[in-house]
Amino acid sequence: MLETFTSATNSPYDDAPFRSRLSFDLDVDICVVGAGLAGLTVALEAARLGASVAVLEGRHVGWNASGHQLGTVMPGYSLPIGDLIERVGLDDARELWAMSKEGADYVRAAATEEAMPGIALTEGALEVSNVDVGEMLISRLQTLSEDFETEVEGWQLDRVRDQLGTARYFHGIYYPRAFQIDGRKYIHGLAVLARRAGARIFEDTPVVSIDSSGIRKRIVTPSARLRASHIVLTGNVHLGTPLRRLSETLLPVWRYAAVTEPLGDRLGEILAFKGSVVDSDGIDHFRIVDGDRLMWASPETTWDARPRRFGPVIQRRIATIFPQLGKVPIADVFGGAVGVTVHGMPQIGQLRKGLWVASGFGRQGLNTSAMAGQVIARSILWGEDRWKLFSPFELVWAGGVTGRVAGHLIGLWGRGHSAAAGALARYREGARVRERVREARLAEANRQAGTRPPRRPPGEPRPVRPQPPRSA
Ligand SMILES: Cc1cc2nc3c(=O)[nH]c(=O)nc-3n(C[C@H](O)[C@H](O)[C@H](O)COP(=O)(O)OP(=O)(O)OC[C@H]3O[C@@H](n4cnc5c(N)ncnc54)[C@H](O)[C@@H]3O)c2cc1C
Repeated sequence: MLETFTSATNSPYDDAPFRSRLSFDLDVDICVVGAGLAGLTVALEAARLGASVAVLEGRHVGWNASGHQLGTVMPGYSLPIGDLIERVGLDDARELWAMSKEGADYVRAAATEEAMPGIALTEGALEVSNVDVGEMLISRLQTLSEDFETEVEGWQLDRVRDQLGTARYFHGIYYPRAFQIDGRKYIHGLAVLARRAGARIFEDTPVVSIDSSGIRKRIVTPSARLRASHIVLTGNVHLGTPLRRLSETLLPVWRYAAVTEPLGDRLGEILAFKGSVVDSDGIDHFRIVDGDRLMWASPETTWDARPRRFGPVIQRRIATIFPQLGKVPIADVFGGAVGVTVHGMPQIGQLRKGLWVASGFGRQGLNTSAMAGQVIARSILWGEDRWKLFSPFELVWAGGVTGRVAGHLIGLWGRGHSAAAGALARYREGARVRERVREARLAEANRQAGTRPPRRPPGEPRPVRPQPPRSA
């Protein structure tokens, strides 16, 4: 049973068995800073390839976004595909997209019931449009399937509405190869796999400074020192003092989600689709969990707020999209900070010899962090250089406090714009329906009129009707 209104820091899922703090000096090949999705994937892959690895986590495994996400695994990045092509050209965009698919395949291969009991993998995700843009949908489908070799299906309005039981959405793109897992089990499962592969994970061990100048780099924590040939920074927006200038290239966006109490059979009667649903404006993201609960992410802030504040907001959001459900009881609210870059692509690569970064995965971190972990481990141990494909996406300062205010305003504008565009699209749809009814009525009236004698021209005397014979 889920605890009512838990926050990011006291969720009942945060019971990872890696509690030891680093209290002795250590020498390793690779030191990973941060035990989120990115850090643990780097650690797992590097340990599998034979390196000695230490992961230093300031709080505990999955403390931030990685332990508080919805578990939807889709191809691609936070940056829309059209913008990606515009930025790097079709060939590199295809290669980057293929890497994002490899990331999704990596998660699928790791998230098996044997390796991670209860991971509950289910297939298929649907991206729905708030507005009626049929032509754009066709061109996007072509781009995805022909240029980017991604399995997709276009769903017409009737099918979307039939499956989702709401009139809020128009068309949809169905990704049969996308899937969802229990996101919280996945992060702890990754930690178990990394430890089994030989990586050592230390919790409650914040890295306070690093000296990356020499061949052997030095890492300082409050109670121990480390030396390593490579440091991988995966601290996301919380990295802080070890490299503040790097954290400042990320805009922190706190995203909040809720899980409802069991809603019974009526949920399945309304919402037939069992995969994840995301809207193309990136506002709502939901799916059914545990058979009859809704898990729903939507509100965002650019400051750290208590997740429980957002229970009523999500309740209202659910009632807006599914008025049939009304005000649903909320069992759990959680949230975490995602790192958003100015260009919308993750930060993956080598900052200087032996100093690596994997951060800024935004709202789509499962496939992208898995890919980053694999790419960085192979770059360090096999000398691969695919990370260079990310070089066009430089480290750009995210604007500090001004950036956060701007980010908040842009977020508000985006939501307002999406709501207005959605309302306008639904109004137009209603107007089209009313117009069709009016036309049908007119056609019917004309049809009936066609069976009557033609109309008398103005001024012409009224014809004398033959009188029926008088009855006796
Ligand atoms: C509500 C919500 C729903 C989401 N749903 C999805 C989804 O369905 N699908 C999807 O793909 N993505 C989703 N995401 C996004 C995804 O969760 C993130 O992109 C991803 O978790 C980022 O992982 P990370 O490892 O980069 O960062 P984090 O999870 O932030 O991990 C960084 C870790 O580094 C540690 N750290 C930082 N600094 C230091 C230091 N100096 N010393 C030691 N440790 C340090 C932190 O304590 C933290 O544990 C969601 C996010 C949220 C918030």
